[in-house]
Amino acid sequence: MQLLDGKLVSQKTKDELKKQTEALILDGKRPPHLAAVLVGNNGASETYVANKVKSCKEVGFESTLLRLDEQTTETDLIALVKKLNEDKNIDGILVQLPLPKQIDEFNIINTISPEKDVDGFHPVNTGKMLLADDRAFLPATPFGIMLLLEHYNITTRGKRVVVVGRSNIVGRPISILMSQQRNFGDATVTLCHSKTTNLQEITCQADILISAIGNPDIIGADMVKDGAVVIDVGIVRVKDDSAKLGYKIKGDVKFDEVALKSSYITPVPGGVGPMTIAALMMNTMKAYKQTFAK
Ligand code: NDP
Repeated sequence: MQLLDGKLVSQKTKDELKKQTEALILDGKRPPHLAAVLVGNNGASETYVANKVKSCKEVGFESTLLRLDEQTTETDLIALVKKLNEDKNIDGILVQLPLPKQIDEFNIINTISPEKDVDGFHPVNTGKMLLADDRAFLPATPFGIMLLLEHYNITTRGKRVVVVGRSNIVGRPISILMSQQRNFGDATVTLCHSKTTNLQEITCQADILISAIGNPDIIGADMVKDGAVVIDVGIVRVKDDSAKLGYKIKGDVKFDEVALKSSYITPVPGGVGPMTIAALMMNTMKAYKQTFAK
């Protein structure tokens, strides 16, 4: 078994971006600039946004963190996003999800300018992704998974891929990317969800199994084919009084037993999570190049 080390590949990606940023600055240009909007005090969201801002620093990007109150109205958030759309010094905008219940996520995603939509959630980018248009911003987690497959040169062409989970941000887009005619695509993909019957029968046929459920330890060795590549997207905080923070991060996969059967496997944490951030940084550089520096 070989570990798909997201930490290592993410660092390598960020080192490369840092070099590109340094070259821009030497050339007298400003660095790329990401604006992150955080509404409320969701603990996991705080951590994700802090990591994104920290990564901006590491690669030499500017970043602006805008924190809004839990009670913020949809109208106020839309007004802020429109202001960021107009700001020529900002290349990428991310609004951390989930949002408080008084705010409709779709309305916010639709307000972000598609040229600055570095999370790749806007319908224009979803459409471009579907059409395999290279100018699309791919959603960060599926993009990160593609980068990981590429780094380890994992053959996907003609392979049977099973994705469990059909969300708009992970499961559905990765199923689309891997079924497309592209590098690290060309796979035969099955997309499963909570209404799938005989899930185990299907996952056991997977050469590459991608789990994006969010239910700790749901994928055991009995659901995995010998020699499969296993990618665990799940991240759940599970209460653990013995842990320093009072919780442990768990994935969907029972790592210890599945690792014995798989050819490659991602750890949680340290697998897909860091790759998501690296992909976001790549998208921010792309936004900069496609608009500001074109
Ligand atoms: P969603 O809750 O939006 O989607 C979960 C999917 O899993 C749904 O399609 C659901 O089916 C399916 N599902 C739920 N239970 C089962 C089951 N028992 N059997 C089969 N399918 C099931 O989650 P997200 O896609 O947003 O996130 C998934 C996980 O990935 C979470 O743990 C999240 O924290 C993590 N995540 C990690 C990221 C990273 O960077 N590593 C980034 C984004 C997410 P149905 O559609 O029928 O309800």
